Amino acid sequence: MDGVLADFEAGLLRGFLQRFPGEPHVPLEERRGFFANEQYRALRPDLAVGGGWIGGVRHEGSGEPGPHRTSEDGGPLPWDKVASVYEAPGFFLDLEPIPGALEAMREMNDMQDSTQVFICTSPLMKYDHCVQEKYHWVEKHLGPQFVERIILTSDKTVISGDLLIDDKEVIQGHEETPSWEHILFTCCHNQHLALPPPRRRLRSWSDNWREIIDSKRRVLPPDPDGLGVPQQ
Ligand SMILES: [Mg+2]
Repeated sequence: MDGVLADFEAGLLRGFLQRFPGEPHVPLEERRGFFANEQYRALRPDLAVGGGWIGGVRHEGSGEPGPHRTSEDGGPLPWDKVASVYEAPGFFLDLEPIPGALEAMREMNDMQDSTQVFICTSPLMKYDHCVQEKYHWVEKHLGPQFVERIILTSDKTVISGDLLIDDKEVIQGHEETPSWEHILFTCCHNQHLALPPPRRRLRSWSDNWREIIDSKRRVLPPDPDGLGVPQQ
């Protein structure tokens, strides 16, 4: 969902500049690596001490009070400026759709064949706002019929499907051989990566996602349950 349907990176930069206008930041064209926290931490260590997704990197978060807001020794957490942006209420709900994403989702969902589309998305460790807002975002932009298509999981490898369109360069989890082929959706943080064959990209929603579905259909046996296309 983030980086494929909802523009997380633009929202993060916009929110960071609003909250911390005097601090150094990473322009989108200079983003490298899935976790923005790590690049901000390299820029200056106090900008991001941790923060991440369940199943992602070790999370420490923004240091706001809460039941999971303590460090390993039980002490207060250091302030994390980057995490404080995306953990804030309204952050996920206010993300802009990626250009063409909503139209592609509707067209994919309306395909008169066995294609089934799901929205497979991982929550933040600090899930207080993000989970609810992801659901609201989908209803707001795509309608209630797509809310039923949300798969919220910290481990996408255990989800069954034929294609997974996702902006994270490597997706790992408990299942070492997921059923889906990972199509890397191009995002500012991964555009510089050279993918080893036979890995494939979708460069944007203007790119030929229909051909990717068709190509998958050609190599799969007829499936009475349909072709699943989960998307992060
Ligand atoms: Mg993503």
